[in-house]
Amino acid sequence: MMDQHLIEQRLADVLQRIAQAEQRFGRVKGSVQLVAVSKTRAAEDIAAAYAAGQTRFGENYLQEALVKQHTLRDLPLEWHFIGPLQSNKTRDVAAHFAWVHSLDTLKHAQRLDAQRPAHLPPLQVCIQVNISNEDSKSGVSVTELPALAQAVAGLPRLTLRGLMAIPAASYEFDMQRAAFGQLRALWSQLRAQGLALDTLSMGMSGDLEAAIAEGATLVRVGTDIFGARG
Ligand SMILES: *Cc1c(COP(=O)(O)O)cnc(C)c1O
Repeated sequence: MMDQHLIEQRLADVLQRIAQAEQRFGRVKGSVQLVAVSKTRAAEDIAAAYAAGQTRFGENYLQEALVKQHTLRDLPLEWHFIGPLQSNKTRDVAAHFAWVHSLDTLKHAQRLDAQRPAHLPPLQVCIQVNISNEDSKSGVSVTELPALAQAVAGLPRLTLRGLMAIPAASYEFDMQRAAFGQLRALWSQLRAQGLALDTLSMGMSGDLEAAIAEGATLVRVGTDIFGARG
């Protein structure tokens, strides 16, 4: 468990970086939301971030997330599933998360749609796209994206909000921007085809400025809030 004040300080630093990037790249103030990525972190660390004002948390591993959600059930947290989906996980993801960022197959979309509990609002989803990361098994290909997006948009218990990507890591700002620019272009094309998308989930600790420069509306930051993962 990390010190409460350290988490508070790191969170404030990340929020300041986001605000500075919004200003520097001509983005509307407050137009970029922060999801704090809490995979592998203790529930106490999440509670500390919440005490410092953070309400959105991203988790990759279902079983770990369910345990922490139960521990923290009295806090009004918004949970985002950002890890790889598998068919045997969709029922719990549909029941225990507000958002899914990592949707990449129609089969999983149909399962989430059928399994979203009736008492909850539609599940908010982003389709993960495999850009510039040929090795990755995650994400739909650029060529298959349009058909998947149209199909997901037609499912009543899902609300398709936008696209997500994890480009190959680069320390070069211009290369980071180029990858995020590709995702933004795909997003714009889908919007031109009539899909009401409002979310670009892109940018992590090492590249959030480049993502904001290219239009990110939501960044997913773990390390720079909670420290290096063990
Ligand atoms: C781990 C993870 C993050 C956060 O990465 P950091 O480099 O720790 O900020 C963001 N998105 C996804 C999908 C992740 O798996």
